[in-house]
Amino acid sequence: MKDSFHINTKVLGLIGHPIKHSYSPFIHNIAIELKKLDYIYLPFDVPAANLRNVVKGMNALGIKGFNVTIPHKESIIQYLSNLSEEASIIGSVNTVTNDLGKLTGYNTDVNGVVETLIPYKDEITGSQVCVVGAGGGSRAVIYALIRHFKPAKIFLINRTEGRAELLKNYFNAKMKFDGFKTRELFPPDLVEVFRDSKLIINATPVGMFPENDDSITRLENSFVKGQIIFDLVYNPPKTKLLQLAEKKGAIALDGLKMLVHQAAKAFEIWTGEQVPVEELQRSLELYISD
Ligand code: NAP
Repeated sequence: MKDSFHINTKVLGLIGHPIKHSYSPFIHNIAIELKKLDYIYLPFDVPAANLRNVVKGMNALGIKGFNVTIPHKESIIQYLSNLSEEASIIGSVNTVTNDLGKLTGYNTDVNGVVETLIPYKDEITGSQVCVVGAGGGSRAVIYALIRHFKPAKIFLINRTEGRAELLKNYFNAKMKFDGFKTRELFPPDLVEVFRDSKLIINATPVGMFPENDDSITRLENSFVKGQIIFDLVYNPPKTKLLQLAEKKGAIALDGLKMLVHQAAKAFEIWTGEQVPVEELQRSLELYISD
């Protein structure tokens, strides 16, 4: 971890609330060390009421760039001068650059989703997939699926079905995808839908530490051999959902690769430097297992 900095050291950061469990400061400071750059990455705990002043302050202090996490990924947009095409379609920003006062928003979660799923592209294209969750993570997932993987059908499943319906209408209008179906997250009614899907993605915090024993479904007959299960949750890396699916011979993909790739893309946007993502992921895995 960086142990010295000076007046010319460039500052990057993270704003969100709460942020004390975020791995981003670890990941980015390791990336800075690996690339031997004169930067430092700092966490800033920012409640919603302070967002406006903090963004102005970031700009006034000349902070080169920052990540944005819950609950600011959508509300930050009103304070930015520009959005990347992806951020504009998704309606959510996780990375901001400051170019002499011009703030531009990006969504690099999409890169994390694409990098995780790209080895399975042939299986996903033309298939039925399930996305559970209708928040910020789900938006990036849906964009990535439609733009890069072209499934035939997307089941949008959410605890509050009305939010899934809103998301369906949003992406229907923005990306002209009419293969959506929505369902309420009630596992006994979903066994068939899950079984018939080539890919199931959990984009909810269900199963996240400290609720490690939770799962969007505990019904083992929801999974079949060869199916792909991608859990955005990265703490713990092997969630209950992934354990259950693996028992039935499914392919389990955890949220760590996505986390590292979204960070690597943000880092590249800020510094122009490409980080060795495998090395970054190994460092993170060691850090988590400590
Ligand atoms: P969010 O915007 O707050 O959305 C949360 C979604 O989860 C909503 O659809 C919500 O349903 C649902 N949900 C929350 N608690 C639930 C529960 N107890 N039972 C059933 N559904 C529940 O969150 P987000 O940003 O999309 O993040 C979701 C997860 O993805 C988090 O664990 C986050 O850490 C992870 N994530 C990982 C990465 C990565 O790089 N690996 C990137 C982004 C997000 P309602 O609509 O009914 O409230």
